[in-house]
Amino acid sequence: VFVCFEGGEGSGKSTQSRLLRDWLEAEAYAVVLTFEPGDTAVGKELRSIVLSPETGDISDRTEALLYAADKAEHVDTVVQPALDRGDVVITDRYVDSMLAYQGAGRALDVDEVERVARWATHDLRPHLTVVLDLEPAAGLGRFAERDRIEGESLEFHQRVREGFLRLAAEAPDHYLVLDARAPVEEIAAQIRAAVTPYLPQ
Ligand code: C5P
Repeated sequence: VFVCFEGGEGSGKSTQSRLLRDWLEAEAYAVVLTFEPGDTAVGKELRSIVLSPETGDISDRTEALLYAADKAEHVDTVVQPALDRGDVVITDRYVDSMLAYQGAGRALDVDEVERVARWATHDLRPHLTVVLDLEPAAGLGRFAERDRIEGESLEFHQRVREGFLRLAAEAPDHYLVLDARAPVEEIAAQIRAAVTPYLPQ
């Protein structure tokens, strides 16, 4: 079972992915909680290149390829092996982040970005993607320090948000879109209910 969390900055993805992991473990499932970008040795290097404000401007295609490289390593060495073992895999960000940030956010063609992302991930798709939806101004307000991407304009982050919502609207059976402003426990309960049908009994 493969579950992804997506959403903008400060929307509570890491909190909710941890709560889901804790609940699944309490239910005796083997769980791998992971994230993108950066949860492999090479991914850590890629993350620091792409997010450090010191990197300065990089071309949009270069940025997309760096994220794609992180994804390829992540799928090949973390996600697919865990799924092969029968573990539940929860990832904080996946392909949709690339489609939303590099596709909708940057001036890149979304279909082209999607082709690169699908190639990088062997077209491995999640059973369920949880989108924690939040107005960008509210999410960005939670951070004093901003990485290279968080420092982008509000318009950029609005395009990213719309990008996530569009993806969810295109395939509603595979998405759960939740208002990230709801109480943490209420959100967690809705996520548990949506994940339950996918779990082996
Ligand atoms: O989720 P997390 O805060 O770790 O994400 C790190 C940063 O990477 C965020 O600022 C996010 O906006 C950015 N990002 C991106 N494109 C992706 C994935 C993440 O710009 N495909």
